[in-house]
Amino acid sequence: MECRQCGTCCVAPDISSLGKPAGVHCRHLGDDFRCRDYDGRPAVCRGYRPDELCRLIAAPTMDERVRRYRAIFDI
Ligand code: SF4
Ligand code: SF4
Repeated sequence: MECRQCGTCCVAPDISSLGKPAGVHCRHLGDDFRCRDYDGRPAVCRGYRPDELCRLIAAPTMDERVRRYRAIFDI
């Protein structure tokens, strides 16, 4: 599946290597939902690939996408 660059995977999950809690925008996430530290992003970001989850959480707003993501993982 192709990444739609919706930005949700940079907001919804907690990312310990960035000290980022779940549901909080990563400090490197730009307003255009692109990573502003692409070359310096941690391994967990480098290894992330779009999959079925991206389709399941798809929604018009970030709030709704995050809500769907967190509901799926119960976080
Ligand atoms: S949640 Fe999926 S579609 Fe959205 S930016 Fe991340 S990988 Fe891409
Ligand atoms: S470092 Fe970049 S790719 Fe990783 S969560 Fe933050 S904005 Fe997303």
